[in-house]
Amino acid sequence: MSYPGIVIIGGGPAGMSAAVAIATHGLTCTIVDEGFDLGGQIYRKPTNPACAPAPHPRGEGLRAEVARLGEHINVRTGDSAWGIFDGLRVAITSPDECTELLQPQAVILAPGAHELVPPFPGWTLPGVMTPGAAQILTKTMGVAPGKRVLVAGTGPFLLAVACQLIDAGVHVVSVLEASPRSAWLTLPLHGFRTPAILDEGLAYLTKLARAHVPVRYGRVVVAATGETELNAVEHAPVGAEWFPERNHIETEQVDTLLIGYGFVPRVQLAQMAGCDLELRPDIGGWIPVRDRNLATTVSGIFAAGDGAGVAGSLAAALEGQLAGMAATQFLGAIDEATFTAARHTIEHELARLRPLRSALDKISALQPGLMSLVRDDTIVCRCEEVTWREAREAVCAGSTTYRSLKMTSRAGMGACQGRFCWPFLSRLVAAEVKCPLADIGPPSARPPLGPITLGALASGLQDK
Ligand SMILES: Cc1cc2nc3c(=O)[nH]c(=O)nc-3n(C[C@H](O)[C@H](O)[C@H](O)COP(=O)(O)OP(=O)(O)OC[C@H]3O[C@@H](n4cnc5c(N)ncnc54)[C@H](O)[C@@H]3O)c2cc1C
Repeated sequence: MSYPGIVIIGGGPAGMSAAVAIATHGLTCTIVDEGFDLGGQIYRKPTNPACAPAPHPRGEGLRAEVARLGEHINVRTGDSAWGIFDGLRVAITSPDECTELLQPQAVILAPGAHELVPPFPGWTLPGVMTPGAAQILTKTMGVAPGKRVLVAGTGPFLLAVACQLIDAGVHVVSVLEASPRSAWLTLPLHGFRTPAILDEGLAYLTKLARAHVPVRYGRVVVAATGETELNAVEHAPVGAEWFPERNHIETEQVDTLLIGYGFVPRVQLAQMAGCDLELRPDIGGWIPVRDRNLATTVSGIFAAGDGAGVAGSLAAALEGQLAGMAATQFLGAIDEATFTAARHTIEHELARLRPLRSALDKISALQPGLMSLVRDDTIVCRCEEVTWREAREAVCAGSTTYRSLKMTSRAGMGACQGRFCWPFLSRLVAAEVKCPLADIGPPSARPPLGPITLGALASGLQDK
């Protein structure tokens, strides 16, 4: 079977919307998603519908559209894209370890983002996890992450997860938001064009209040403690730059800490394809450089959604639609006038979302005080168990780039290849050598994107 046309990597709101736009204009596309079903992070489908919450109607709507246009949309769930090579060749591997090399005429990258957890003492203890991980447990399997749960970090996602846990019958002790309450109170000024999103936030706060879950602003977790697993969390009030007031530490007895400080775009496939990147800390860090049509600097490759700058699911869907239209026009299936009119409408919608999003980005921007949490013996690369002392010694000896630090300290050498540690470790390095974060650079990316067995590699790389 061959898949001419367009390959979309990622089946979240961005990828599904791109596919619908492409198929609507009569072209064929293939969505590759390593999840067991389409939906991405927000519209993830439960594996056990009996005990998980009802799927999101927007997600169901998009899935139905993809199914309706099934003649033009080939869905490959369970398959991982692990490399992009010259000439738009995309390597994918299926769960039964078969590797294929697809050669489409255009590629849309819509791989989403992953969560950011800055290191702090005790963060590697069992019982400490990300809000997203807990959400996956409850949403897909109806499994509670713990008995007494503290949610901490920054951003509205914390409120969403805390509410989902309450619905699942979990005891949420409190939510700790690093930024001050005064900043959050300004949001209505920025969100008047998107009242539904403000209402959603208000509904979360109301639900938490009814469940007697306090939301405490201007507090950060400074340490997680326990012998072999988490049994307490220490947190402290912070000022504008999030430096903890250590003489006011409070201790909370919990068995689970969910901690997340926003999201980091997954840019590794764009990097492998040779797309230029730019540093945009306000929307998650390194992102592919894109033009107005969401085309990257590599001809035929487009990027949409959180993987090209974190902006939420509504913006991801709009961007996916635009990237789908742009790729369709790139292949000559729609004329310039039709495309320009569609782009105008989508840009208008995106502009409506922007003020609230920008305000949220400012409120949740990472502050330098987070770096003061790291101690000499704090692990900064979990895959290779490298401590900050070891990494800093390597930095002081001159290893100030991802590549050199990896060689000398093994930080970033493990299974995640720096995807999870480098977004924060690069900040620590930049602070240590007193240079701009952009000078430190992103982690280098090379295939395979994730661990892959030799059997899968040897299974016959054939052009499709
Ligand atoms: C863990 C997590 C939980 C979230 N929960 C919420 C929430 O409850 N409410 C909310 O409003 N927002 C939530 N968000 C944010 C929201 O999900 C995103 O803003 C939105 O989904 C972005 O859409 P997207 O299509 O760009 O990416 P995603 O929805 O993240 O979809 C990307 C898809 O790409 C796939 N993928 C990535 N790399 C590969 C690869 N190499 N090969 C194959 N497939 C790949 C992934 O499996 C995923 O399905 C969450 C984000 C995360 C990371």
